[in-house]
Amino acid sequence: MKVSIAAERCIGAGNCVEVASRVFTQSDKDGIAVVLKEDVPPEDQDAVEQAADICPVGAILLSRAQAAAGA
Ligand code: SF4
Repeated sequence: MKVSIAAERCIGAGNCVEVASRVFTQSDKDGIAVVLKEDVPPEDQDAVEQAADICPVGAILLSRAQAAAGA
């Protein structure tokens, strides 16, 4: 699974960092979420899916194209 942030949508709510702190952080400058691991390791996938679910503006974009084995 791959993950990216639609930075123009992100309002810096920080929900994603709370549930998946190994994958997301927030910019010190403007609070916009930043992806630490674009290729999400299997152990972090549940947390990343949860983050995408709870992001209030739908700014977390998931791509499962390469995740067939674990899907
Ligand atoms: S949960 Fe969504 S709006 Fe909040 S910081 Fe993460 S990407 Fe941005």
